[in-house]
Amino acid sequence: IGRLASGLAHEINNPINGIRNCIYAIRNDPDDREQTAEYLQMMDDGAAHASSVIDKLLGYSRKRRAGLEPMDLNNAVESVLRLVSFDIERKNLDLESRLDPDLPSIVADRQLIQEVVMNLLINAVDAVDERGRIEVSTSVRDKEVVLTVSDRGHGIAPDDLDRIFDPFFTTKKTGEGTGLGLSICLEIVQAQGGRIDVESRFGEGSVFTITFPLPATEPVMESDS
Ligand code: ADP
Repeated sequence: IGRLASGLAHEINNPINGIRNCIYAIRNDPDDREQTAEYLQMMDDGAAHASSVIDKLLGYSRKRRAGLEPMDLNNAVESVLRLVSFDIERKNLDLESRLDPDLPSIVADRQLIQEVVMNLLINAVDAVDERGRIEVSTSVRDKEVVLTVSDRGHGIAPDDLDRIFDPFFTTKKTGEGTGLGLSICLEIVQAQGGRIDVESRFGEGSVFTITFPLPATEPVMESDS
């Protein structure tokens, strides 16, 4: 939450500072109509940006409802992507999202699932250099709904692979990582009846795969024959 808040504060503060600079300039030279018109446009753009950040934040938290219920995983992923987009743009990352349009609903707590996706994406963003690549996908495989978050980042050292889900295990600098993200992800995913797997090559990147069972009431459309 702290990490998210500082990113969003930055996105809102920048346009506000821009707007204040424009006001200052207009006050200093109120008779320069050309400058005033130009700065008013910049103020309008800045205000629109700040308000779009708020809209994205509200879109993320609006559907807050506790408990398991049928939910659209793609929609939850998109809502997280809109928030993380600021981090992605700042680092000039190449994000590919391949969300299966025919994905069936899963039964899960939307808010918690968003937290998981957010953690995995923030880790992926942290793992890659500027202009790095991140992929997010959803699909149906063997009657399960699968979500993957992969990155071509620094990867995970073989000795660390067994420890990344341990509470407080972190390789990040103090203040940048708490080591709690993945342990919380694991707890959430298991509580929703799912699994979380990781494959990683040190120096090449990582793939986190989350698998949810399909709800019993929603049969897979393909026939087994
Ligand atoms: P934190 O991000 O606060 O360190 P996490 O529990 O989310 O805590 O992650 C634990 C550790 O797992 C990270 O410090 C990092 O070493 C490793 N890790 C997690 N995701 C990735 C990733 N996508 N690429 C490389 N290392 C990762």
